Amino acid sequence: MKPATVALPRQDPPGHLAARQHLLDAAQALARERLVIGMTGNVSVRIGNVVLITPTRIPYARMGVEDMVSVSLEGERFAGRHPPSRELPLHLAVYRRRPRFAALVHTHSPYATAWSFLGEPLHPQTEDNEYYGIGPVLTAPPSPSGSSQLAAAAADLMSDSAAVLLGRHGLLAAAEGLDQALDVARVVEHQAQVAWILRSHRVGPPQRS
Ligand SMILES: [Zn+2]
Repeated sequence: MKPATVALPRQDPPGHLAARQHLLDAAQALARERLVIGMTGNVSVRIGNVVLITPTRIPYARMGVEDMVSVSLEGERFAGRHPPSRELPLHLAVYRRRPRFAALVHTHSPYATAWSFLGEPLHPQTEDNEYYGIGPVLTAPPSPSGSSQLAAAAADLMSDSAAVLLGRHGLLAAAEGLDQALDVARVVEHQAQVAWILRSHRVGPPQRS
């Protein structure tokens, strides 16, 4: 294992270095797989009552473990030289309301984001959705990024589901761990792609007037 060569906050509990590295790896996977573009999207992990979340407006390729921001479940900031993602209220609301989740991934992946503009549940339920036990993917009403309305609506719609579409915005995927939350984000993007193929087949090409 590589020795820690970064200046981590002194108040970081033991074990958080590994968690910071895991969070960084997950965030960089989002960019590499084009589930987000540029500096958009965000990832967090909950360790007990502490949440580590990616910082706002730092390119994923330049992000380091020391850039991850740690906050309490109430949003009190413990450590981090940058502000947290502006979707922090969304992450904290889901952790507080849905304690079975310990990792969240927010993407703007294209097919899921496109479906979020329809304001409809994502259909059909695919084999992959069932295999990963994701549940029904509903769409929260459009609300501003970082708002308490968005946070409350998303947490509401995750009572029976590990994913929710944020209206006219993107996707929030959840799981017990980061790798599983990434899988949920990938599966829902795939599900949305299948949904669009079926819909375009049914609707057909635009008619000329
Ligand atoms: Zn977003």
